[in-house]
Amino acid sequence: MVIRTALFALFALGVLVACSTSTGPDTSANEAIEADRLHEIVKLLASDEFGGRAPGTAGEDKTVSYLIDQFEAIGVEPGGPDGQWTQAVPMMRTLLESPQLAFTYPQGQEKLMQGEDIEVSTVRATQRIDARDIPLVFVGFGVTAPERDWDDYGDIDLTGKIAVFLVNDPDFAAAPDEPVAGRFGNRRMTYYGRWAYKYEEAARRGALGALVIHETEAAGYDWSVAAAGAGERVALAGNTSGPVPVALQGWLHEGAATRLLAMAGHDLATLRREARQPDFRAFELDGVRFSAQSSVNITRFDSRNVLGLLPGHARPDEVLMVSAHWDAYGEGPADAQGRTVRAGANDDALGTAGVLEIARVLKAGPPLERSVVFALWTAEESGLVGSRAYAVDPVYPLATTVANFTLDILQTAGAARDVILVGEGQSSLEDDLARVAAQQGRYVTPENLPENGLFYRADHFSLARAGVPVLLLMGIAGGADLVDGGRAAGNQWIADYVGNCYHKPCDAWSPDWDLTGAVQDIELFRQLLEDLGNATRWPQWRAESEFRAVRESSAAARP
Ligand SMILES: [Zn+2]
Repeated sequence: MVIRTALFALFALGVLVACSTSTGPDTSANEAIEADRLHEIVKLLASDEFGGRAPGTAGEDKTVSYLIDQFEAIGVEPGGPDGQWTQAVPMMRTLLESPQLAFTYPQGQEKLMQGEDIEVSTVRATQRIDARDIPLVFVGFGVTAPERDWDDYGDIDLTGKIAVFLVNDPDFAAAPDEPVAGRFGNRRMTYYGRWAYKYEEAARRGALGALVIHETEAAGYDWSVAAAGAGERVALAGNTSGPVPVALQGWLHEGAATRLLAMAGHDLATLRREARQPDFRAFELDGVRFSAQSSVNITRFDSRNVLGLLPGHARPDEVLMVSAHWDAYGEGPADAQGRTVRAGANDDALGTAGVLEIARVLKAGPPLERSVVFALWTAEESGLVGSRAYAVDPVYPLATTVANFTLDILQTAGAARDVILVGEGQSSLEDDLARVAAQQGRYVTPENLPENGLFYRADHFSLARAGVPVLLLMGIAGGADLVDGGRAAGNQWIADYVGNCYHKPCDAWSPDWDLTGAVQDIELFRQLLEDLGNATRWPQWRAESEFRAVRESSAAARP
């Protein structure tokens, strides 16, 4: 409470200073993103008192009321529905209890061990899964992409069947002389490579289930990570747009997949090559069936997105968004130092602090022509749930949402000569990024692990798939060219953070953090918001972007 009161006094002082000089040519120069404030906010949000900020816990209540206090102190308006600070996010946790899983072959059954041969779960609100002798269809990469002249399905009917997918997209492993090479960004993973797309495509086609054959390199993580869900999922409950999700979703271990395909007379390596051919079409696997019986333990609870608004003075219906996620992983097993709270200090209390700082500085500056929404999402770690809830039930129409800027993990190793671009080739916002970075004396470096598909793994993606142009700054997308130590030091920071701290108690606040680089990144977003906030242009997806078509479908709504 002492900290909160002190901060409030500082905010009030900041506003007074800004007002007293508001006749000057550039009032925003009086306020700047401050590393000390970022430290204070993160130190508090990552403290044991907040319990790791898991959705649906006492940590959520503390976090949400703290964030509202901060927005009120800054002086922005409530940005949620009906003039409230929060948007309700109904959620459910599902767990398959001791599932009985098996392939059936002409010769008999092969029992499948959950977590070893397969990892399946459900995001349907159903009490029981009872699927017997279900046909399986091998769909290759399972892609329908008219803009790339690609269709793996032809006229096959998936209704009530299990779709079996290869992970990643058709040109990930292609040689340069194969016809598919380059059609899906080569090593860069497209939306079509993500499991989320595959589950959704299966649902659109009425499939009962979707299984993705795991491969470490093409997935970007090994089997233990894929299987870590252990049949448990947290998802948005009810009120979702789009088709009913598949009843069963998950990963198939490469070994189990090899046996299954062999029983149907196929070889996995051969099928991988064939699935890269443009004339590949999905086919039903002869003589094999899949069965799954399980009761489903469902727990429902409510969580909240926190939304602040700075209304535009000229075109308030044109909305810019800047966002981060307030949630983290709650408490877990003790680490070597006995810590149980997984505080998510960097992921993403620091991004949350960045959004609050941007709100404070923009509010203190001259009014913008367009509105800015400050969105602090819940349940990112559960699978982008809070941002998804917003995208399916937006407070401000997405057609006139100009852009979304997302902060999720910023490096804490000091000033950088460059800024890392995630998802190169997607939209004209990349030109804006390069221009503002140059004003900062920095240059743009594309992420160095595009095959990991980070562009599809943070909250901005919930908005992107609904057509809103997006930019993501994520400190683990590539080693920055640090002023102190260069690229090698940037890569070392990522290796240390991902190797030791990511999603673990070690992701804690430290007084040793050097936030100079984080301040550069946050200031970069603030400048982009100010530029676009006083502009009339609408950022555009590039011609080759998989999100261009959905944005164009709402073109008539934009002036
Ligand atoms: Zn995060």
